[in-house]
Amino acid sequence: MKKSFRAAAALLALILCLSCTACGGAAEVPVEAPSPAPAEESAEAPAPQQTEETPAPQQEEEAPVLPGLSRQVEAAEGPSAVSYPYILRTEGAVWHLSADDMELLGQEKYCTGLELLLQDQEADFAEARTLLAPWIWEEIPPIDIYTDFCGHAEGDEIFGAFYYGSRREIRLFHDWDFAARSLLHEYVHYLSFTCTDRPISEGLFGEGVAEYVSHFACRNRMDRNASKRALSPEELQMAAECHLLDEDGCMDPRRTYLYNAEIIRSPMALGAKYNTITSAVMTRDERLNESPSYTTISYYEAGAMMAFLVESFGEEQVFSHWGMDPFDLKEVFGKDFGELYQEWAVWNRTQCNALGISFG
Ligand SMILES: [Zn+2]
Repeated sequence: MKKSFRAAAALLALILCLSCTACGGAAEVPVEAPSPAPAEESAEAPAPQQTEETPAPQQEEEAPVLPGLSRQVEAAEGPSAVSYPYILRTEGAVWHLSADDMELLGQEKYCTGLELLLQDQEADFAEARTLLAPWIWEEIPPIDIYTDFCGHAEGDEIFGAFYYGSRREIRLFHDWDFAARSLLHEYVHYLSFTCTDRPISEGLFGEGVAEYVSHFACRNRMDRNASKRALSPEELQMAAECHLLDEDGCMDPRRTYLYNAEIIRSPMALGAKYNTITSAVMTRDERLNESPSYTTISYYEAGAMMAFLVESFGEEQVFSHWGMDPFDLKEVFGKDFGELYQEWAVWNRTQCNALGISFG
């Protein structure tokens, strides 16, 4: 029993550490150090003399090629080009590549990390857009994504990543593995907070839907493949024994989610620190377990609870009311938060049993 507890607790710690601890959607925190003003000399420099004998210099520059990247990048322009000198465009995103992060990791290692993410990013983004199509705009502009592995974001780095709603941009913190785990969650924030005529409410629905879409409803190739790269053979073996791997030997986001949600509401997690969906860091205690509220639950509980609501009431009923105040749950679902939480807890345990998930 003691051994089981230790194994489960160790795996929980491992997963809590590596998983996305996500973010709110509408914060307006400046995170980028002001860039130096562009040199004025360029505006005042005299135009080069041109004669018939000396043809104008060729202005077209070849697109930069960075080691480790199979795609072409563009040289950025404007004041931010000092901090983010290169831009890489995909169908759904505009990537801003950080000079400081390239220096931190080494340019080739930075680019190789991005290359691995790009192998999955478009398919994951497209899957999320398709799933949410009835509730978001038909045309979704590409999202601006910045890496910030160097600590410029300060307090926001308690999260794996952050969606800054007012600037319509995602910032990725820590490293590429964190980025892979967090990016689809943040993209769902972009879709549900910004790219819709009926924005989602923050907290239970904002975070719950982002977690549900990125960890339950979509495959999340970025997360799966990153888990395989990041975990040691021993950690993967432990995950296999708990039946948390998918058919390709990656951590299955859905199984992992059900597992973590089960543990965090159990006595095994008492004393553990966790991020609430309202951006607080709390310590799990018996009071929180006995009287959960929609402001103090973890991301795992919110995401799994949203999966339960979708299965019980259907996507249309849940997503068409995603802008609601959770205080009014009874008006839409016939039960208040406490009643729905208790029903979810039974559902979550049943799901774990049906999938053969064990706890060490
Ligand atoms: Zn979030």
